[in-house]
Amino acid sequence: MAKTKTPKYVYFFGGKKAEGKSEMKNLLGGKGANLAEMVNIGLPVPAGFTVTTEVCTYYYANNETYPKELKDQVLKSLARVEKEMKAKFGDKKNPLLLSVRSGARASMPGMMDTILNLGLNDETVQALIEKTDNPRFAYDSYRRFVAMYGDVVLGLRPVDKHDADPFEEILDKKKESKGITKDTDLTAEDLKELVAEYKAAIKDKLGMDFPENPMDQLWGAMGAVFSSWMNERAIVYRRLNGIPAEWGTAVNIQSMVFGNMGEDSGTGVAFTRDPASGENVFYGEYLFNAQGEDVVAGIRTPLPIADLKKDDAKVYKELIGFRNALEKHYKDMLDIEFTIQQGKLWMLQCRVGKRTGFAAIKIAVDMVRQKLISKETALLRIEPDQLNQLLRPIFDLSEKAKAISEGKLLAKGLNAGPGAASGKVAFSAYDAELMAAKGNKVILVRIETSPEDIKGMNAADGILTARGGMTSHAALVARQMGKVCVAGCGSLQIDYKKGEMRSEGKDIVIKEGDYISIDGTTGEVLAGELTTKPSEVVQVLITKEMKAAKSPVYKTYADLMKWADSIRTMKVRTNADQPDQSANAIAFGAEGIGLCRTEHMFFGGDRILAVREMILADDEEGRKKALAKLLPLQREDFEGIFRVMHDKPVTIRTLDPPLHEFLPHDAKDIKEMADILNVPVKKIKDKLESLHEFNPMLGFRGCRLGVSYPEITEMQVRAIFEAAVNVTKERKKVLPEIMIPLVGHVNELKLQEAIVRKVAKEVFAEKGKKVNYLVGTMIELPRAALTADKIAEVAEFFSFGTNDLTQTTFGLSRDDAGGFLPRYIENDILPRDPFEALDQEGVGQLVQIGTQKGRSVKENLKVGICGEHGGEPSSVDFCHRTGLDYVSCSPFRVPIARLAAARAALLHPAAKKTATKKTVAKKSAKKKK
Ligand code: ADP
Ligand code: MG
Ligand code: MG
Repeated sequence: MAKTKTPKYVYFFGGKKAEGKSEMKNLLGGKGANLAEMVNIGLPVPAGFTVTTEVCTYYYANNETYPKELKDQVLKSLARVEKEMKAKFGDKKNPLLLSVRSGARASMPGMMDTILNLGLNDETVQALIEKTDNPRFAYDSYRRFVAMYGDVVLGLRPVDKHDADPFEEILDKKKESKGITKDTDLTAEDLKELVAEYKAAIKDKLGMDFPENPMDQLWGAMGAVFSSWMNERAIVYRRLNGIPAEWGTAVNIQSMVFGNMGEDSGTGVAFTRDPASGENVFYGEYLFNAQGEDVVAGIRTPLPIADLKKDDAKVYKELIGFRNALEKHYKDMLDIEFTIQQGKLWMLQCRVGKRTGFAAIKIAVDMVRQKLISKETALLRIEPDQLNQLLRPIFDLSEKAKAISEGKLLAKGLNAGPGAASGKVAFSAYDAELMAAKGNKVILVRIETSPEDIKGMNAADGILTARGGMTSHAALVARQMGKVCVAGCGSLQIDYKKGEMRSEGKDIVIKEGDYISIDGTTGEVLAGELTTKPSEVVQVLITKEMKAAKSPVYKTYADLMKWADSIRTMKVRTNADQPDQSANAIAFGAEGIGLCRTEHMFFGGDRILAVREMILADDEEGRKKALAKLLPLQREDFEGIFRVMHDKPVTIRTLDPPLHEFLPHDAKDIKEMADILNVPVKKIKDKLESLHEFNPMLGFRGCRLGVSYPEITEMQVRAIFEAAVNVTKERKKVLPEIMIPLVGHVNELKLQEAIVRKVAKEVFAEKGKKVNYLVGTMIELPRAALTADKIAEVAEFFSFGTNDLTQTTFGLSRDDAGGFLPRYIENDILPRDPFEALDQEGVGQLVQIGTQKGRSVKENLKVGICGEHGGEPSSVDFCHRTGLDYVSCSPFRVPIARLAAARAALLHPAAKKTATKKTVAKKSAKKKK
């Protein structure tokens, strides 16, 4: 009988070779996999081992127990670590000390705190004293360990926010009794007493002894990491970031190195490039004579990494070497943690660094220019929505300068998340959520943030903190969420109790609810509300206030877009109803109009009067009279659009909304309309009544209007064709596509098509000039999708109106869904709002069926989508896979759609071909019959 192989649960790293590597993130977690990789590329990493995520999964599947093989494997790896570090765990002469670190696949700030100095007890601490000849250091390490272990593993911590931390309390008492204020003034003897007092508190409050046995400490800490996977913070973080609970966490157990062994020791964190701006500069901070969390916690303000060059040139040079080696190896911007122990540099962590959307784009484009990565890789590294940060508003500089000259500059902090935000101040995450729910723009202001604040941070427009660096919690989370953030604004004095803040040396008091403005690109914080201004890209492309050559940001954007365009196979059009919108969309790269809603034009100027006259008319004669007034106005509108859209297709939808939308509803407006049109009020009221519908969304609208009142379609189509001929005569190329909305049965389309073709013929004959055009339909009813083969016999193109198609497939009115849909999302009944991201499984199936059936009749049928989804990345990806020819979205989303389409083409290169092949196969099968 074949012996089944023992599963491997523990992976060693250290020395010259590790058992793991960076590709093994699923098994070893991000931290473990990268520690192994750093060993493999020759960087100095304190030896250790990783207990895999499979153990976590096992732990939860088996009543919180471990696989039986684990213990032996842990002991074996521990022995290897001891050998490598030439020390023994628990030894009374030469003890090995360990850190216990959690590490999931994706970095999770909500997880367990790291435990440092594990293995210390009353005996090993003596050895540490002898070894270092530094009793103060030894006892400081010991008392930190007891406090950390007591908190994280044993659970002695404040029950609610208002309680003081039990260990802090003891520490404060100690300082008070000794008449000192700083931790560093505590003597070795004081620290030794603290250890005893901490332990007594554990005994007293928890009724248990602090575990002296190092092995018990180790297993206790490991259990705490696995348990932390299911703690509240971690669960919230996973939900917000879409991380499945099944992934589990790994545990990293690693030999300690000490950054607090004196002035030749230190610890720091750095990014290989600036994570906010993306500039190619080494960016970080460090502290001398400090351990672990001191840098991140924001208790002491760290020094900029450039200072290390003066302080320790040798270590600095080595660190720069590691920076370059890591970037070259990973071909990405990394975030690193390091510790210097008595002049020797150790690497403690590296991972792909979080960055703002702004930086993500700059870094990706720069790395292509440096030939570090390919254009394809660059495109795949940028989430399309991150482009928003390049397009995002900035403050009006002159207004900001004015505010500053008026003394409104409150403070300056770190520019942790670029962009400009103005809003009302909230001093707690909870209040931020409440205020945002009421429709306010909110700036969340905290001394520092913690994982409990994520929901409030999510609700806020901007985040401002008084403490912490570029790697503080606030900065990290803000960057990930794409929020405007100013961090570490040291001069702010925030008083939660009074609900106000001041800034050192200024007499402005900001109370909760007052407006402030924060500039996440410069770090400035100002009192009052500032207006925001278009981004540089928008200034170059749209407002034309800036020259392309003057804006490096624009150049980066332009390069990226050029690459995206060379790769994508789907076209990107825009939804626009006016010449100026159309021009903007072209500047953003739109290749046509996918949806021009004619009714939007009905509201401009005097048009609405003619529209109302038409609606009130008693007979066809009266309607025609009113429509004749509208004709020249509509024609003018179309001329404007055709001129701007020269050479590009323009899809124009005939009238869609129910007629009552064009009538006034309240008494005053009705009276006014009656006076202007010189009709009795009663007539309008009667009309309103006759047009009243219980369910307008499913009522008298779309092509149903044109079927009942063909003269409306006639007028609109005439306006389109006259405009088309006129603009063609100006030597512009006009490509009109007439789109009939809300078709459910092919016969509706046939009737409307006949009108279009008849009017076209008439106009061309009158004007003595022809224009090529298409007649197609929107597919926005399930019946249309299901009978798309019939419809395609008439239609020359399809455009999926996924807003209505979502409404009609779900049987859900978008306008009424606000009352309950959010609950559906919150409780995971629906994964996402289907009006935001296309429901691929349901509505998407209709898009697939419609496309396939349509193309089974017309092989090259042009198919697009013009719902809001056309600018949403996951929906764009779906459209690519379904073989659509184009997506159409609002002008400001056009760049996002272009990038999303390129990414889709890279991720699914065969999609278009297979989508076509299927129809070809069907066709030839048909022929055989
Ligand atoms: P996080 O996941 O929150 O970044 P880490 O596991 O990286 O937590 O630990 C936090 C800090 O603890 C690190 O930045 C590092 O300074 C310190 N630390 C962890 N392991 C060790 C070690 N083996 N030696 C010295 N310091 C360590
Ligand atoms: Mg870390
Ligand atoms: Mg519709």
